[in-house]
Formats: sequence, structure tokens, C-alpha cells
Amino acid sequence: MNIHQEIKKRRTFAIISHPDAGKTTLTEKLLLFGGAIQTAGAVKSNKIKKTATSDFMEIEKQRGISVATSVMTFEYRDLLINILDTPGHKDFAEDTYRTLTAVDSVILVVDCVKGVEEQTERLMEVCRMRNTPVIIFINKLDREGQSPFDLLDELEAKLSIRARPLTWPINMGSNFKGVYSLYEQKLYFFKINKTKVETDVAEVSLDAPNLDTLLGPRDAETLREEVELVEGVYDAFSEEAYQKGELAPVFFGSAINNFGVKELLDTFCQISPTPQPRPTDVRQVLPTEPKFSGFVFKIHANLDPRHRDRIAFLRICSGSFERGKFYHHVRLNKDLRFSSPFSFMAADKRILEEGFPGDVVGLYDTGHFKIGDTLTEGEDLQFSGIPSFSPEIFKELINLDPMKAKQLDKGVQQLTDEGVAQLFTLELGNRKIVGTVGELQFDVIQYRLENEYGAKCRWVPMNVARACWITSDNKAKLAEFVRLKGNQIAFDKDMNPVFLAESEWMIRMNRENNPDIQFHFTSEFK
Ligand code: GDP
Repeated sequence: MNIHQEIKKRRTFAIISHPDAGKTTLTEKLLLFGGAIQTAGAVKSNKIKKTATSDFMEIEKQRGISVATSVMTFEYRDLLINILDTPGHKDFAEDTYRTLTAVDSVILVVDCVKGVEEQTERLMEVCRMRNTPVIIFINKLDREGQSPFDLLDELEAKLSIRARPLTWPINMGSNFKGVYSLYEQKLYFFKINKTKVETDVAEVSLDAPNLDTLLGPRDAETLREEVELVEGVYDAFSEEAYQKGELAPVFFGSAINNFGVKELLDTFCQISPTPQPRPTDVRQVLPTEPKFSGFVFKIHANLDPRHRDRIAFLRICSGSFERGKFYHHVRLNKDLRFSSPFSFMAADKRILEEGFPGDVVGLYDTGHFKIGDTLTEGEDLQFSGIPSFSPEIFKELINLDPMKAKQLDKGVQQLTDEGVAQLFTLELGNRKIVGTVGELQFDVIQYRLENEYGAKCRWVPMNVARACWITSDNKAKLAEFVRLKGNQIAFDKDMNPVFLAESEWMIRMNRENNPDIQFHFTSEFK
């Protein structure tokens, strides 16, 4: 098979949702339909459950499980499908954002009772930044939810995307009868059904008298009226608008009852994008280019504390990746080769001989990789679009055991390479500031420093509400600002200056007073 055929076969996507909307359930059902697993219950939720043990112990357990579920690859029809898993907990939103840089499209799950929730909005913002194509699955139709029209209005209003229903529900909750496929002119009948994958289907056009017999005259009439309204209000579905990320096709279903999932998967296979070109600091890289390139979007470290083992997850962007061949690590300007790269077929690790664009390769790493690193066949380019986001919580890291300063430094360095948190250094006294998007990470870091590096620390909260990277074309002005702000300036891992502001208001004021300086909320501003 040539590279064009390999690329055409591949679909790499993520399922995203606010916790509890049904992401895990839908993932499992897709694997079930794809034949990758035989029974329900095989996919472990990566959600942090409320248990008697504290949250971060749960995270540790999850870290073990989640290597297996980080990437789930299966074959369906003639396609090779890679589902990239994303953490559900909001404190780990940055992990999710980074994973979204490695996919070509997403399926967004929305709970029909709760509608668009906070995390849904945040995740969609990231998709909008990159114009990632989105398919929406409105889940839990077996429950009494909001009216489908209200749900669609809410999607459009809150997610800044046009919606286009491809199926339409007939009632909800205990009266839920099924969905009508607007394009296939088929009725899918709903049944409470946790195990079987088949659904009863009837081919029937809306104006056929038969519809009245199948649904009862009242529901048939309502369906006709509602579909007429849908056709009047919403633009026809356009694959092109979907691929550009402007229009989201919408499906209704009930994942736990295997309902609506097959239609979703079949449509996904038809319309979702193949591996797409990706931006770098110098040019666009096309998947069809003969030379290999890829980037690391995730790192798992120290799963076994006795070995300093790490797994780097690399998304292939162009060419083919071959086992045992030397590739160029652009940041380190060093050539590396990998003797046992692995793939994630059917959730078990297998040695990968050759991979193609869209594939994710697991690489054993002894400390060469940071998130965002690029591998090529020699070309000096760096994939962009993997920003660090401005953290929201800041604490100073205090070493409690001066004898273990080295271990502490190494641990903090490695944990930040992994993307658990961001490390900043204050010029004065070389003080270490850790910035995160959630409180939970501080517990995780403290626990992991102690368990994996034998270093003890404590945290001193800082009065910082927001950090932003600062740049200027006028080097003298920037240097002066850095000098004047003294203790409010820290440096990130690449020695870029960062302004630590006590409030949003402080940022606004400093912006107004310093027109020559640009303030950025992500690290990607080059
Ligand atoms: P996640 O947090 O988004 O991964 O959500 P889960 O897949 O873990 O689902 C959250 C809860 O919703 C679980 O208790 C599921 O059993 C339940 N659930 C998932 N799909 C459906 C559905 O179609 N109908 C109903 N009633 N419950 C569902």
C-alpha cells in the first residue's frame, strides 16, 4: 500500500465532553461496534471518582490505567481509527488541550438534560482556535431532557458554531421512541438495551401513511411538523462547512443503550477528515510528504518508580516512521533511534514496525523528550500549536530537605517536561514558582516528588491571579519593564519573561501604561 492509501484509511480523533455526559460510555460503544472489545465494561473510566482515598491517590492509579486507554486503535469497515483519550477532570484540562493538537477532528458529547456545560464550552474554544471539525452527539435521550430545538439553540449560542441535525428524536425520556434519520429517511426504533448492538430500523419517508402506523398518528404528525421546521431553519448539511469547522452535524441517541451510536460511527467514517496538514514554525507540513515528521503531545513518566521510564506519545504528521531508523530531535539537535516503538492496537501494546500519518507511536524515553518536541528526517522545523496556557494558580515551592536539593530539582524538571505544571523562576534568590490550572496538581507534584524522587516540599501560596508572557519589538523597553517590575517578573523554562499579575485589572493597567509591550495568555506568540 502506498502512503496515499495509508493516509486515506486513517481517522484520528478525540471524544470530548463535560464529565458525566457519557464520554467513556460512548468510547466503549464505539470500540464494541468496531469489534475492538467484546464486552461492555472493558474500558476503564479515566474519571477521578469521589472515593474515600484522596483525589491524588486516585490519579496515581489512573495514571497506570490510562497508558492503555491513551490511544485506542481499531479497524472498522476499511478504516483504521485512532481514538485519543482525554482526561475528564477540569484540573487536567491542559492535557486535553494538548491532546487536541494531535487529532484531526472531535466528537463532542452533550447530556440532553444538562445541555452545554462549563467544560464543553472551554473545550470547544480550543477546537475553534484550530478550526477542528466537530460532530455533536446529544446523549441520554432515554431521560427527560430539554427540547431538541432549545438544545440546538444553546449549542449555537454557546459554542459559536452552526449546528445541523442529521437525525431527529421522537419524544424523550420514558416516551422516547427513537430517531428519524433526515438523510437516509429511516426510522430507528429505541429499546432499552445494554448489550445488543442491533437496532430495529424501518425505511419510511415522512409522507408515507405507514409512518402513522409505525409511530401512532400523534407522534407521526409531530415528527412531520418538527422536521419541516428543521428543514426550514437549518442550512442543508455541507461536508465542506463541517471540514472547515464551521458547521457541526448533530446526532441524538443513548450511548448506554447502544442507540444512535452506529449511525454516528458510520457517518463519522464517511465525513470525518483524513490526517491533515500541520503548521510548523517555518512552513506547513503535508501528510503526503515522503519524509517522516511528528511531534510529542503527551508524556507518561515513572509508571514504575524503580525505573526512570517514560513513554512519549508521538503523532506522525508526514511520511512513514520506521522502527530502528535514526530520526532528528530538533530541539536537542541530536539523532535518536527507537528499537521498540509501539502501537495501541486493541488497547494492548504491540511493537510497531512502520507507522503513517495520523498514527500515534509510543516511544520509550530516557529523558530526551518534552511536550511539543519535534522529530524529523533532518529538517530543522518545529510543529507549532502546542501552547502552554497561562496558569491560574501559583505557589512557591519550598524545599524541606536541603540534602535533597538535587533530587528536587530533577523531579520538578521532569514533572514539568511531562506537562504536569509549569515552572517559573524568580530572578531574586532563584525562587521556584509552580503554576497550574488546578489545585489538584499541587498534591500530585508533592506526592510524586516524595515517591519518585525522595524529595520533600511544601507550598506557599502566592498572590498571583494570572501570568502572561511579555514581548516587545523594543528590547530596551522590555528590559526596563522587567527591571521595574522586579519581583513580579519570573522566567519560564525557556527563559522567556513572564509578568505575574495580582489581578486582571493589573494586567489591563500595565497594558495601557506600556503600549510598547505585548501581553500574551499562551506561550505561543512567535
Ligand atoms: P464521562 O464522565 O463523560 O466519561 O461519562 P460516563 O460515560 O462515565 O457516563 C456518566 C454516567 O452516565 C454513567 O453513570 C453512565 O452509565 C451514564 N450514561 C451514559 N450514557 C447514558 C445514556 O444514554 N442514558 C443514561 N440514562 N445514562 C447514561
